[in-house]
Amino acid sequence: MSRHALHALLSFVIAMITAGPGSSTLAQTSSAAEETLVKKARAIHEKVITLDTHIDFSPGDLVGERNYTQRLETQFNLPNMIDGGLDALFFSIYVGQTREAQNPDAFKPAGYERAYKLAVEKFDAVLRFTREIAPDKIELALNAADMRRINAQGKKVALMGVENGYTIGEDIARVKEFYDRGARYLSLTHNGHNQLADSQTGERDGWKWNGLSPLGKQVVGELNRLGIMVDVSHASKQSMMQMAALSRAPIIASHSAPRALCDVSRNMDDEQLLALKRTGGVIQVFAYSSSIKTTRPDSPERAAALAAARKEHNLPEPTGPGQPARFQAALKKLSADGRAEYEKQLAEIDKQHPGDPPANLKDFVDHIDYAVRLIGIDHVGIASDFDGGGGVIGWNDASETFNVTLELVRRGYTEQQIEKLWGGNLLRVMDAVQRIAGELQKN
Ligand SMILES: [Zn+2]
Repeated sequence: MSRHALHALLSFVIAMITAGPGSSTLAQTSSAAEETLVKKARAIHEKVITLDTHIDFSPGDLVGERNYTQRLETQFNLPNMIDGGLDALFFSIYVGQTREAQNPDAFKPAGYERAYKLAVEKFDAVLRFTREIAPDKIELALNAADMRRINAQGKKVALMGVENGYTIGEDIARVKEFYDRGARYLSLTHNGHNQLADSQTGERDGWKWNGLSPLGKQVVGELNRLGIMVDVSHASKQSMMQMAALSRAPIIASHSAPRALCDVSRNMDDEQLLALKRTGGVIQVFAYSSSIKTTRPDSPERAAALAAARKEHNLPEPTGPGQPARFQAALKKLSADGRAEYEKQLAEIDKQHPGDPPANLKDFVDHIDYAVRLIGIDHVGIASDFDGGGGVIGWNDASETFNVTLELVRRGYTEQQIEKLWGGNLLRVMDAVQRIAGELQKN
């Protein structure tokens, strides 16, 4: 029995005992209802393929002496993946955007070469991890059929997506090279404009191309021709709308959120979501706290009280690069009593110094609900952005993945709908993109 199911069962048993003979049956009824709900969600979670389309990593964590076969202090690793019942993931072949202000050769051959080498290092790490380090546990998939086959064999499924087309430089042949290395989606930009397109950061910094560059337009055509999904996450609205108009195959947002619920440039407004839908594509709504909820900063009193509680329980600061994972790992090391004590202190702090807590699972699923209402159940999916800044309270590492399904069941989503959200839609798009590539290559 999994930890989650065991926990639910224990809560149920305790509720039964404490209710006692003669007391109100209300508590019994509600725990029984909760138990039924958890059971139903558990059955669905085990049945459907759960795919997370965006997880970051450092090559060292994949193929180092200490690697993802162990429970590292990372949000994603194989033990967490197994605990959470997560079946498949896209490893992000991410390289950050170098700007000319930092490096004058950012858009010259030397700058492109540096970025390309970093991407190759990540491609190689995923291949080594799946082929040499953990081939009995996880396998690389290159298409939807691979994914279904590997999943049926009881292994975890790895896929690769490129985050930031900066890494191809000005050499369109690199797109084919990345396809051959296993890339199945590619986002033209990250934060900051590059040689292919404007990034969403232009809302603050101004524009370079007013959308796609001539090379960026060529790249979209090449992605279509090869069968790589065009990923519009991190692109500016204009870039995104141009990709939607230009692409001959459905497009995806591998990790984005609806802007109507959280007005940040990184998110997609309704017009964009409707344009994405018209291509037949899918938005993978991501659990990135600051894209899900804009929060007021804590009062000095609240901040001090929270810091004192963390210190008492030896918990690190939760914000800053890599810190959510470290915090989550430290939290798991607390004894049951320690954890309960900490939770009690948090509740007390909420009462004494009310604040605006960061996004939680309910806020996250609100975004899924919104997208489903606007563009329909066939065009929405799920991503975490773990180890790249993602994670919300309740889905803060891969071991908590079941909580997402539970919340979807709580809100009345059916098994068939959950199957679509958790990967069915993305697989449909992947199939379509590869079928269209086949047709384009014939002509
Ligand atoms: Zn990203």
